[in-house]
Amino acid sequence: MYTKPARYLRQVVVAGTLALFVVPLIGFAQSAPPLRYALTLTDRNLHVTLTYVPLQRDSTVFVYGIPPFGGQADIFRGVRQPRVTAPARLQIDTAARSLTVYYTDTQPVTLDYDIVDTHTDAMGTRGELFRPMIQPDYFFSHGVNLFLQPQLRQPMPTLSQSVRWAVAPPYRVFFGSYPYADAKTTFTQPYDDMLMAPITGATDLSVDKQTINGIDNFTVLRKTKLDTFNKESVKNYLAAYDKSIRSFWNDYDDRYFSLIIEPFLRVNHDASGIAYEFGFIGKYTGDTIMNAKRRDVISHEIAHHWIGQRLSMGSENQWFNEGFTDYTSFYCMLRAGLITADQFVGLLNDASRAHYGSSIRNAPNDSVFKNYWKLGDYQRLPYRRGSLFAFWLDNQILTASNRQHDIRDLLRDLYALRKRKGSEYTLTMADFLDATSRYLPRQQVQTAIDQYITAGNPIPFTAAMLGPDWTVTEKSGAPQFGLTNRQPFKTRFVRK
Ligand SMILES: [Zn+2]
Repeated sequence: MYTKPARYLRQVVVAGTLALFVVPLIGFAQSAPPLRYALTLTDRNLHVTLTYVPLQRDSTVFVYGIPPFGGQADIFRGVRQPRVTAPARLQIDTAARSLTVYYTDTQPVTLDYDIVDTHTDAMGTRGELFRPMIQPDYFFSHGVNLFLQPQLRQPMPTLSQSVRWAVAPPYRVFFGSYPYADAKTTFTQPYDDMLMAPITGATDLSVDKQTINGIDNFTVLRKTKLDTFNKESVKNYLAAYDKSIRSFWNDYDDRYFSLIIEPFLRVNHDASGIAYEFGFIGKYTGDTIMNAKRRDVISHEIAHHWIGQRLSMGSENQWFNEGFTDYTSFYCMLRAGLITADQFVGLLNDASRAHYGSSIRNAPNDSVFKNYWKLGDYQRLPYRRGSLFAFWLDNQILTASNRQHDIRDLLRDLYALRKRKGSEYTLTMADFLDATSRYLPRQQVQTAIDQYITAGNPIPFTAAMLGPDWTVTEKSGAPQFGLTNRQPFKTRFVRK
């Protein structure tokens, strides 16, 4: 599962502010962040005190929650007893999930509210993944279900907020946006960074840090029956995969990255999770955390740190966002030694069997987007079509360049382009075509995109099409790939 909430949210907030008239901001003390949160955690609720210096005249509207994030239409039910200190006044609009504070001067205003646990067993995985959970021994919430979203009349991209514990929490609490925080820390961060990052704590929470290439990698788990085994296997996995994927992108800009993996409490579901800007939060059922399937899922989610989070072609091009994420995760798992060459081929063959065996394998790209929420095969199609296209493209580049280049070079070029354009830039089909044309004849790429992506025709794979390393056979109408020679194939993936 993957959502791109940060970008989504920014669009929502921007759309919301455009409709309002612009009022000059009132000056405020530069020394303190404009939004200051103090938290108190008890057995069944989280008490939140927001103190803020008004940024605009007369009133501020704060919105709570994002219903499409995990399909939580009634998320506002978890907010209890909102109140402000006089002389400010509060108006609550339940339908709009908004708290409007009216004030007469620019003195700091204090807004208090409680967050309670309203998740139920009937909500299944969504309840445990997207709603706040507050229990005597466990806490879980996304920033967006804890902090408020001020609807400013004038965009303020550098808006920051601080967080501290008013009372030390009863157990260790980990902030996904700032892993260094402890019970005594007051930390200040851009508002944007905190909003979609998870916050979790437990009486048995374990937080392990390993620094790789100057980046602090945190593994956050709860104690299990197989505690040592699970801890070691997750840490070792993260170390190997992180090295591989960061060298794939040649990207060491992050200060930290967190892998948070916790058991579902009442749901029996193998695994599911959400990538966010500084890591990944996943939940699982069972005693052993790492198995082949979860390794693949977690690797896919970490790969979204680049494709999806940083490099996106927009929601109408899921073949890139999901399919290229899948393919880079296969590539980087192989480079990391987490899977063998035969397992790499097996992942492609699985995608091929599922795609060529699907009744909607010919669906044009634009119908995939329209039918995406029908889920099932429509949701899986972009992963399969996109990863098979990436595989095809990788081999075209490799052959045309006499093994000097492959898909990694193409993706690094696209990443460099996105960096030049800025973090909000969404890649276009023209960008993709331009970048790919550096490695392949433009007409070949254009025809391939028209045929295999836009029109949705499955690629008629042949061994000749893929180069001398590959064999292609057919099984129940699906191409099945094999390796003729593992050596050149392997050396390509271990190159620096
Ligand atoms: Zn994904």
